[in-house]
Amino acid sequence: MTRLKGNLVSTSIPWSPRRLFIAAMLAAVSVGPAYAGETQGLLAEGTRWQTPYYVIDSNKPGPTVMIVGGVHGNEVAGAKAAEIIRHWVIVRGKLLVVPRANAPALLADKRCDPNEPTETRDLNRNFPCKGGLYKPRGAAAEALWQLTERTKPDWLVDLHEGIDFRKTSKSTGGSIIGTNSEEVVRIAKIMLDAVNATIDNPKQKHVMLMGPARGSLARAAWERLQAKAIILETCRKDPLDVRVRQHELMVHLLLTNLKMIDQPVPARPLRRNIPSDDSTTNAPRALGWRPASIPPPAFVVCRSGHILLCESEEFW
Ligand SMILES: [Zn+2]
Repeated sequence: MTRLKGNLVSTSIPWSPRRLFIAAMLAAVSVGPAYAGETQGLLAEGTRWQTPYYVIDSNKPGPTVMIVGGVHGNEVAGAKAAEIIRHWVIVRGKLLVVPRANAPALLADKRCDPNEPTETRDLNRNFPCKGGLYKPRGAAAEALWQLTERTKPDWLVDLHEGIDFRKTSKSTGGSIIGTNSEEVVRIAKIMLDAVNATIDNPKQKHVMLMGPARGSLARAAWERLQAKAIILETCRKDPLDVRVRQHELMVHLLLTNLKMIDQPVPARPLRRNIPSDDSTTNAPRALGWRPASIPPPAFVVCRSGHILLCESEEFW
């Protein structure tokens, strides 16, 4: 198991008392071994794209599902949702989560890493595809693609956002972009029904689209690995907590249909069972902190002030 090397904190903006409190609380919780069913690793270790990934293995036969967030840095709902999802308890199969696939872009609060050359700037156009790239382009895409190939996911779900609602614009906000598979279409319809049941305005209801863009991770996973691949696109005109919740709801439906999860979608980030005799922590349970035997997450404060990763319930 590779240990995380510490918290990633942007110091480019002033820290409010609230952020300082959170940082102090994180520092107060000592790092210990990970949850027994979880392994952690670092993608693109030692580079500016270094970012953690998490493998939650039920140790029971079942599908492998890969969830990716933060491929585009200004689409923070996916990164936040993935960070929540990685804490879910699964009862069969394996879950691999990469919450922040494009760490420099998330820190910059931009779609793409501003320091990346133009030809490789958009991470989600750098993956192999028929009639296009034969192999991934750029270090970030290479690292993520190698992990995807090693994982051989049955399902890959990439969490994104659009700037406007698809029903009234050309943006992909409020859509599910599927690949050519009966099972993908079946699950996407279940997701659409569920998410649209929470939306009153007919112009803001989510719709189904087909065919992820060439060079996207979802398209590569579908074409090269025969994964059932799907992109979930929330709309940035909705409040952030709504968008995070929509991602959660849709991923939860997939995992429920695959019988990988047997609990309702949690009202709060669901934490794994904590041994009742754990006495190694003074962490305030009222705030939902993990005990000392489970490491605290890294957290990132991007330039717009979003705290991307923080387990305090205050932020959800
Ligand atoms: Zn995107």
